[in-house]
This record gives sequence, C-alpha cells and structure tokens, in this order.
Amino acid sequence: MKVVLQNLTKKFPARGRKNRGEVIAVNDFSFEIPDGKLIGLLGPSGCGKSTTLNLISGLVKPTSGRIFFGEDDVTELPPEHRGIGLVFQNYALYPHLTVRQNILFPLQNLKGKDRLSKETMEKKAAEAAALVQIEELMDRRPAELSGGQQQRVAIARALVKMPKVLLLDEPLSNLDARLRLQTREEIRRIQRETGITTIFVTHDQEEAMSISDRIVLMKDGVIQQIDKPQEVYDDPVNLFVAKFLGTPPINVFDGRVESGRLFLGKEAVLDVAGVSDREVYAGIRPEGFWLREDGPLCCALSGVEVMGRDISVVSMHAASQNPVIRSIIGTENKVDTDAPFVRFALKPNKVFLFDKETEERITF
Ligand code: ADP
Ligand code: MG
Repeated sequence: MKVVLQNLTKKFPARGRKNRGEVIAVNDFSFEIPDGKLIGLLGPSGCGKSTTLNLISGLVKPTSGRIFFGEDDVTELPPEHRGIGLVFQNYALYPHLTVRQNILFPLQNLKGKDRLSKETMEKKAAEAAALVQIEELMDRRPAELSGGQQQRVAIARALVKMPKVLLLDEPLSNLDARLRLQTREEIRRIQRETGITTIFVTHDQEEAMSISDRIVLMKDGVIQQIDKPQEVYDDPVNLFVAKFLGTPPINVFDGRVESGRLFLGKEAVLDVAGVSDREVYAGIRPEGFWLREDGPLCCALSGVEVMGRDISVVSMHAASQNPVIRSIIGTENKVDTDAPFVRFALKPNKVFLFDKETEERITF
C-alpha cells in the first residue's frame, strides 16, 4: 500500500507561562512512500519522528495537510480503520496474558462482518508467531521472555491482522547491541517476506542505513533529504546531513576557497574548480584521506589505532572543528607513530563544501 503525505503539519500549542510558544513538530511534510518499501525515518531526538508516525497511524490529528493510503484519503479516518500495525519501543504487551493470547488479542476485537472463527484466529496467530520464530513460546507470559522475545511478540501482534502499513517507533532501542543487530535483520526479512509497506523510526543512523530502502532525514520538524541510504551518505545536501550520517563522523574544517583551490589554514589541499572565492565548511569523510609523504594536508599526529581490517589515524589541525581528525586508511599503509606530523592527500569525491551562512552544499 502506497502512503502519501501531502503538506502535513502538526503544531502543538504553547503550554504554561514559561513556554516559548507553539512547537511545530512536523512542518509541511510532503513525500510518497512506495508500496512494499521500508522507509527509515531518521533524525535526532525531538525532531518529530514519533509525531509523523502518529499522524500516519491516526493517533494524532494533523493541524493541516492530508494523508493518503493508496488513493484513499484517510486523514479523517480513526486509527482502528486504517489497517495499520504498530510497534513501540516498550513492547506494550499485556503482562497477564500469554504470548498466544497477546497475539490473538487484535483478532478477538474484530466486530461484525470482520469477526473470525476460533480456528481462523488460531491459524493466523500461529502464522504470525512462525514469521517471528516464537512458536515454542506461545504459552509463556511476557515476564518469562527476554527483551528480544518480547519485541518479537509485539511484532507478531502487529502483523496478525496483516496490516496494510506497519509502523515501528524505535523498536530496537530497549535491546542490547547483539540482539538489536539480530532483530533488525529479522525485521528486514519479515518485511521482505510479507511485502508490507513499513515505516521504521530511529535516531540511530547506522540502523536506518542498514535496514532502509529509503531514508527520510529530519531536523526540527523539517525534512532535510530523502534518498537511498548510500546516496544520502555520498551526496548530502547540507552540513547537518553530512554530520548526521557516518561512523566515525565526518571531519569538518573551516576552509576558504581562493582561485579554485580549497585552503585549510595556509595549505591549498584540493582543486575545487568552479567554486567562487568564499569562506566554507569543508567536510572530509574518514575514508577520504590518502597517506602521502608529499600530501598537501599536514596534521599533528596524536595516535594510530589498529582495528584489524583497517587503521584509524588520529590527528589534529588548527582549522579542524572536531577536537580530533579521524582518517581511516588501509592496513597496507605504514604510519610512523613517532613522527610529529602526518601528511595526507584528499579524495575529491569524499570532500564536501558547505556555505558558511546557509550550511547548504556547494558542488564542484
Ligand atoms: P521524536 O520522536 O523525533 O523524538 P517527537 O515527535 O516526539 O520527536 O516530538 C517532536 C516535538 O514535538 C518535540 O519538540 C516535542 O517536545 C513536541 N511534542 C511531541 N508531542 C507533544 C505533545 N503531545 N504536546 C506538546 N508537544 C509535543
Ligand atoms: Mg520518538
């Protein structure tokens, strides 16, 4: 089921005397989620991800704008009639019910012509349980399950009615690192198997990058960029986007363009033909450095971390905005750890320039 958001806005009124005014949690959102895709809604805490999800689910009413499921305008439709499945961070299972009863619950609530026979309900619950691989846990209660198992039950409960749209709000945040990885792969597998259009909210860029067909990156209620994960990484539209994606994070420098060359401090480090003379922020991805004895960028060497697959060179530079610069280079490189300085050449496609005022990308 395709989902279309059209100029969607949600304002929360100011509360109390000290309040600075109304909050625009979601500001003029327009985008289309293609049928059967998994969309990662990504951004820092408070940027409006949950509000967006709640608008799609119908739990929150928009201030303005419209929501379509397929060709149907569902803006005024209550949540229970939208055909959605919801999963939250805190599983929200019924503690006194068994796993089976928890999964059956949404089916038992169906009324009128939608009512199902007991056998059909049991069959659907068993199918949902099989999908998330918890068949052997059906008679336990939530307290007798690990966090990861509880979250699978919550996913099974959301899937049991075969929703048209599956909405997941930070579903992995309560799980430990290993389980988080495993469960996110499961979610991806289930999404592929069922083909359910899915919106996955997270503040974790790595999680969003790894799981999504498309990323919607937000800041302060405003969409910054929508694209495939790799494209957002390779082609960020502004400094915020460049900084939000990638571990280690992008290295940001105060720079200056003069006569088609990028200067960091006194050194001309890269040809940037076509860019007019101006002050810029220069962002260099950690993998954007070549170790070169005659390289134009000279940094004070602070240390070298060997990480098995590659080497992380830690250094400093007066024009750097980050306290340290991290450069990831191949293990075939030999770094003289006693040397006071290290010199780099830069890979042009890993260097991004941003306007100092607007922080928008300047292409070259
Ligand atoms: P996120 O999920 O990205 O962390 P939210 O959508 O929860 O962000 O919140 C976005 C903004 O809207 C925040 O500034 C938050 O304080 C505000 N907000 C969310 N819900 C309400 C509400 N019910 N009343 C007032 N302000 C709210
Ligand atoms: Mg949230």
